[in-house]
Amino acid sequence: MISGATIHSQIHNKKDEKKEQNVQVFVRVRPFSQLELSKEANTSPIFCESSRDITCHHKGTSRTYQFDHLFDAECQQKELFDISVRPIVDEVLNGFNGTIFVYGQTGAGKTYTMEGKMDSPEDNGIIPRTINYIFQTLEKAGSDYNIRASHLEIYKEEIFDLLTFNANENKPLNVYDSARGVKMPELEEIVVSDRQVILGILAKSCKRRQTAETMYNKQSSRSHCIFTITVHVKETTINGEDLIKIGKLNLVDLAGSENAEKSGNNDRLREAAQINQSLLTLGRVITALTSGISHVPYRDSKLTRLLQDSLGGKTKTCIIATISPSVINIDETINTLDYAFKAKNIKNTPQINQKMSKNSLLKEQAAEIARLKQLLNA
Ligand code: ADP
Ligand code: MG
Repeated sequence: MISGATIHSQIHNKKDEKKEQNVQVFVRVRPFSQLELSKEANTSPIFCESSRDITCHHKGTSRTYQFDHLFDAECQQKELFDISVRPIVDEVLNGFNGTIFVYGQTGAGKTYTMEGKMDSPEDNGIIPRTINYIFQTLEKAGSDYNIRASHLEIYKEEIFDLLTFNANENKPLNVYDSARGVKMPELEEIVVSDRQVILGILAKSCKRRQTAETMYNKQSSRSHCIFTITVHVKETTINGEDLIKIGKLNLVDLAGSENAEKSGNNDRLREAAQINQSLLTLGRVITALTSGISHVPYRDSKLTRLLQDSLGGKTKTCIIATISPSVINIDETINTLDYAFKAKNIKNTPQINQKMSKNSLLKEQAAEIARLKQLLNA
């Protein structure tokens, strides 16, 4: 679990909420690109047979996979959000933790799915839609709430804060273990008052990521991005006591899956730099969890250390695998589908987080809001 300077304390888990659930797995096929349409790449060996079944034809054989839902090339951002993401956000507002991973080869549509085009409402991806939905729901309910956000990037097994407001600070963050999971004391965790503030901050942090990539010749296909929103919602019990529900949502744009070690390719010596330790470990964690191996190597990478609870833990998790429709990408598409299919067997046991409180959450965030507005205008 990711934690910066949080106000978590005395979190109790309600025993009656414990119920084992499989990680949900969705697949999204993107439309053909202009380049694919102009070449011999404009045929597709993959067929969406129904809203759940997808068939791949390759080297004279065919294989059908079943997922929780398939989104074909016609699928709009709103439909993807409503079916795969909104149910998890609803649970986060009820005090559960949630994680959404997008997985797939570079160019398959991960960032389009996660961020989309920020300046066009129809093309908004998961992150802006989630922010809008959280504010809309809480405002409508007239809830007393507090929303915090952090944004980080893992590149070459080092963690960088994308929200840091100190221009000179591009140092990797320190990570510590604590009784309640992994801690990163230097990670900026901001309190956000309204959707415009957080969307403005997000646009800045995405831009910062691009600038850093240019400056240090980083490749975005090798980095993992995690945008985390923590929501505290206050409810009053029938006894008149204040109950705070704390939900945390991690939105994870993974490195391109072509940077992972492929099973079957093990005999081939691959350049060390091409293999992404976090992606490799993610695959090994999934294998261990789905084949009953007792040692799960969470600690072998930063990504799996930070998101340990999302895989085999107490979080509600979904994976959206993005694929290209083109025949030229069929090998990577099959790798992605095999990986996603395996992940369907991971079981989590989501648990609610709540605590009693007497303080007003609105009061707690008032000072922070003024600070953020100042920083945004700086
Ligand atoms: P990735 O992040 O997986 O490397 P991108 O999200 O950057 O891939 O997508 C590559 C290109 O394809 C981008 O220009 C993006 O706008 C476009 N694209 C991806 N998915 C879709 C989609 N579902 N609908 C329309 N355009 C898409
Ligand atoms: Mg991307």
